[in-house]
Amino acid sequence: LLKVQHLKKSFDGNTVLKDISFDVKKGEVIAILGRSGCGKSTLLRCLNGLEKIDSGEVWLDDALITGPGMSYRHWSEVRKKIGMVFQSYDLFPHMNVLSNITLGPMRVEKRSKEEASKEALKLLERVGLLEKQSAYPRELSGGQKQRVAICRALCMNPEILLFDEVTAALDPEMVREVLDVIRGLRDQGLTMLIVTHEMAFAEKVADEIIYMENGTIAETNTPERFFSAPSTVDARKFLNLQD
Ligand code: ATP
Ligand code: MG
Repeated sequence: LLKVQHLKKSFDGNTVLKDISFDVKKGEVIAILGRSGCGKSTLLRCLNGLEKIDSGEVWLDDALITGPGMSYRHWSEVRKKIGMVFQSYDLFPHMNVLSNITLGPMRVEKRSKEEASKEALKLLERVGLLEKQSAYPRELSGGQKQRVAICRALCMNPEILLFDEVTAALDPEMVREVLDVIRGLRDQGLTMLIVTHEMAFAEKVADEIIYMENGTIAETNTPERFFSAPSTVDARKFLNLQD
């Protein structure tokens, strides 16, 4: 479904992604782990055009979406297919929950208000927030806001959803409710790339772990093997395993 090949990215001569290659199959859930500053967020941002890459290629469904010399006009098309949810939920404060979710489908996909609302309500029901449809973001808890942000991304019917530390800003009780939603999406077969510091969650939910170190992929492994016997010294330290 998604193919990343030799992706490189630097900021002012500081190389942040060195030579990143990996594949994501349809329905697969990949957790991306690694120390702060190793390039996880930058990688996700490159995949949906929030950062321009220096070299390499990204393919989605056999179409080249990022490559040398490509124009960037097509990114709104790509972002329909590759959704992203961030640590800060960035909902529009002046719009209620329902409008926050239906804005994208109506503006970008030109869907009717009725159709978009119908789908939005279905999604809200799925995450247990149907009764909050008319509430404003300031009236919601962090976990509720994050679940709305997930509904907003889902309402565009993405082929892949990228999550960048979506629980990092939440209190422990709220972390669980958001992770439960993501687990539900996995069970429905949604393809996801998840950057997280929740190790237990990554171990349970991911089909594959990508461990990054200083802008490179140091290890790709099954959760079972990565968490019991990571192959690099850095990962052993990261997981606090005794040598
Ligand atoms: P964390 O776990 O703390 O979120 P991360 O793995 O997501 O870390 P990135 O945010 O991808 O790390 O950052 C990787 C490196 O790129 C860091 O050294 C950071 O300072 C640098 N970087 C990220 N964005 C920019 C930018 N817009 N301009 C310059 N440097 C940047
Ligand atoms: Mg980050």
